[in-house]
Amino acid sequence: MPNRKKKIHKIGLVDADLLCNGTRHPNLALLKIAGYFRDNGFKRNNEDMELECESTYELLTNDCNFEKLQSFDYIYVSCVFTFTRDNPPALLSYLMCDKKLKKRVVMGGTGSYANLSVEDGFIEKRAADMENLEKDKYLQSLPHNGINMRTQMPDYHLYDDFVGVMEMTRKSKNYYKDYKKYSIGFLTRGCFRRCPFCVNKMEHITLPYSKLDDFLDNEKDENTGKLKRPYIYLWDDNFLASRYWKELLLALINTGRPFQFRQGLDERILAQSKHGEEMAKMLASSNYHGDFIFAFDNWFDRKLIVRALKIWKFHCPKRETKFYLFCGFKQTLNDDKSFQQDIARIFMRIKILMNYGCLGYIMRHEDYKSSPMPNIYIQIARWCNQPGFYRNLSFWQYCYKNQTYWEEHRLGIKHDRLKTYEEFLDDFKNGYYSDKKICRTLQTVHDFLEQHKEHKDLFLSFFNLSFREMIEPSLWERNN
Ligand code: SF4
Repeated sequence: MPNRKKKIHKIGLVDADLLCNGTRHPNLALLKIAGYFRDNGFKRNNEDMELECESTYELLTNDCNFEKLQSFDYIYVSCVFTFTRDNPPALLSYLMCDKKLKKRVVMGGTGSYANLSVEDGFIEKRAADMENLEKDKYLQSLPHNGINMRTQMPDYHLYDDFVGVMEMTRKSKNYYKDYKKYSIGFLTRGCFRRCPFCVNKMEHITLPYSKLDDFLDNEKDENTGKLKRPYIYLWDDNFLASRYWKELLLALINTGRPFQFRQGLDERILAQSKHGEEMAKMLASSNYHGDFIFAFDNWFDRKLIVRALKIWKFHCPKRETKFYLFCGFKQTLNDDKSFQQDIARIFMRIKILMNYGCLGYIMRHEDYKSSPMPNIYIQIARWCNQPGFYRNLSFWQYCYKNQTYWEEHRLGIKHDRLKTYEEFLDDFKNGYYSDKKICRTLQTVHDFLEQHKEHKDLFLSFFNLSFREMIEPSLWERNN
């Protein structure tokens, strides 16, 4: 018999966003690629193992040097966020530019095209990216004849070594729970709304994607016999827009595992669908994990959102409900009118949410950086995105409190109450701040109000909105 030498392959997997600390959760595409190699008999490389005779795959992190990179037969890179591609960390730059390596690098993910317009080739890039892995020649050459991204079971252990090291050296155990406690997948993909800032902007419909069994992890802890990943999270774009929402939701409920939709749910559908009441009732009574998160991206949707809120809060009066508040899109340095409108619409949406006892969560499009005053978005997000501040302080009080905190800790000046903006202005004019610094937060809101004097009263009324005073249960209560 001829002595046929087994061909050994070495595969590197790169989560590009992780390289620049851009995420707190694993990259699902990469987990699936890892799962595919595992199913083809490759071993996950762990530094402690002697695997010279086996084909291997491993997660590459920032400590991987350029010399080691050359030892891989193929390197699969996934990049979700555009900011990673715009500011690539050293390892990613090297992978993108090194001539010898380039032929062995397969790069994919929304990061390279999410911000492109249709004219700049968004449609073609998106289509290519969605098929990239399934058409990959090397993956097709393996015994399983190619990966199916819908049905491929992830390898939930891909990040184990990384998480182990990080937990020992830096972060708390809870910080990495997304890597350790969840089964992750898409039950549906796509959306009909066509928002211009979204990767689904050219889609028309929500279609079924994976089955629950394709990604539900049943591994148990050897000592306790309990599930290692007792929770589920889903990346569906617009789950409620699926015509199969009910059977899929029932399937989720029947797992008995707490679940959550990470991209938020489309609240408007509760008002638009004839099944809206049923959807709200089922969701509200389910074993939902964490806060319910919806989206209130656009001020023009306010009537629909209010109708939906009346349904939702009736069925779910107690559980925390949060809304993503998209902002900053298409901001430019010279368009002050659009900037003022954008800031005003954030607070007009917050006002409605406060009326219905809901939290907001600011989601900034990266265009906010080009606005006339990017820092005001940062300050609003710092206030709004922390429920403790949002619930207990108006935005003005939050900004002023930053100053009093600084004065107390740096200068030993105690303040027994939070002053109003008018009182702050009196202090300012009377020279109270001439010998002390004004913190960035307070300075930003002060500059904003000074620069928009013509609408100062309006903005001040927004900045003084108080969650406790705004909430009105009579808006959703029913009289029968
Ligand atoms: S509703 Fe959400 S998923 Fe649908 S297009 Fe708009 S942003 Fe994208």
